[in-house]
Amino acid sequence: MRIGHGYDVHRLTEGRKLILGGVDVPFERGLDGHSDADVLVHALMDALLGAAGERDIGALFPDTDPRYEGISSMLLLREVMRRLGEKKLRVGNADVTVLAQRPKLKDHIPQMRENLARAMGVPVERVNVKATTEEGLGFTGSGEGIACHAVCLLEE
Ligand code: MG
Repeated sequence: MRIGHGYDVHRLTEGRKLILGGVDVPFERGLDGHSDADVLVHALMDALLGAAGERDIGALFPDTDPRYEGISSMLLLREVMRRLGEKKLRVGNADVTVLAQRPKLKDHIPQMRENLARAMGVPVERVNVKATTEEGLGFTGSGEGIACHAVCLLEE
C-alpha cells in the first residue's frame, strides 16, 4: 500500500462559477484559478500523485500552460489516473474534506462522489467526500477562500 496526502486552497471571487468535485454549485461567487479551480479535485490529484511518487499537479499541469486555461479538472484527474494505470497502481480508497463556510455542500456530495468515482474508475464506496466549516475562523471562515484536504491509499 502507498499513502498520499493533498491540500489546496483557492480564492473566492466574483464572476466565476463554483465548481467542486465536478459539480456546478449555485453560489454568488466562484473559485479563482487558471483551470476551473476545482479545489476538491486538485487536492485529490495531489494525494494520488503523492502516493505514486509523481511530484504534484503544479509540475504536471503548470498554470503557465495555455492548454490548461479554463480546463475541467475532471479531465486532469483522468490524466492522473492514466499515469497511475501505467505504473499499475490501483486506488484503494480516497477521502476528501472540503473546508468552506458557505455554501452548504451536503446536498451536492452524492453527485461529487459519483463524478470522482467515474473519473477514477472505482466504485463510489471507495471515494468519500466530507464538508465542514471552520466555525467562522480564518480565511475559509471569512469566505475569502475554500480549502480542501485529501488522502488516499494506492495498491501496487
Ligand atoms: Mg489548485
